[in-house]
Amino acid sequence: MSPLIEIRNLHFAWPGEAEAVSIEQLQLQPGEHLFIQGPSGSGKSTLLNLIAGVLSGFKGDIKLAGHSLASLSERQRDRLRADHIGVLFQQFNLLPYLNLIDNVSLPCTLSAPRREAAIRRSGSVQAEAHRLLERLQLPTGLFQRRAVAELSIGQQQRVAAARALIGAPELIIADEPTSALDGASRDRFMQLLLEELVQSNTTLLLVSHDPALAEHFSRHLTLEGGGSC
Ligand code: ADP
Ligand code: MG
Repeated sequence: MSPLIEIRNLHFAWPGEAEAVSIEQLQLQPGEHLFIQGPSGSGKSTLLNLIAGVLSGFKGDIKLAGHSLASLSERQRDRLRADHIGVLFQQFNLLPYLNLIDNVSLPCTLSAPRREAAIRRSGSVQAEAHRLLERLQLPTGLFQRRAVAELSIGQQQRVAAARALIGAPELIIADEPTSALDGASRDRFMQLLLEELVQSNTTLLLVSHDPALAEHFSRHLTLEGGGSC
């Protein structure tokens, strides 16, 4: 099996600053779940943005799904990200003028492979959005409504998770996704997210400063600031 992510001799510094990320080697196989922890400023978000192809100008090699990011144009990296990565942040970035189904469906308007995967799975993009919202335990009565403002924080984060999952991207990148949740919502969120990821053999890269999440993960990476591992 070829790795989904392969990093070698990665070094990145913001202009005029000390090195923010330095990783000699890291490989993730399809379906592996990696927990990334470290103090504020230790380079966690920078590392995720490098792997997502949002940031360039690094030294060394990052391969995603067999593609070497350094050899791609910005446009090609955008395409690779849209097709292969579901992104989940602490802020949910849900659109209040769209109903929940359309919020979840958005990545399928940007990526033909994700649209096709959603249709293969459930017959239509809408039906797959419906399945994911149900699976993440959102109330069915809200699905067709512009109901973002009526949702609890925990529910909003589960809608954002459904949006990251739709179209079965090989990789989910999550930056502090549970920071806005209380303990009970956090545990429920992680349980539902992991159930869906295990079923679809999706790789997860999750950053958090919350050590309570570590137990859910088989792989761990601690960034110390200056970024060595
Ligand atoms: P973490 O996510 O672990 O809190 P970051 O990756 O955000 O850490 O930051 C790592 C280092 O890079 C910090 O020293 C931070 O000040 C710096 N940094 C982050 N984003 C930028 C930016 N856009 N421009 C310049 N420096 C940045
Ligand atoms: Mg961060």
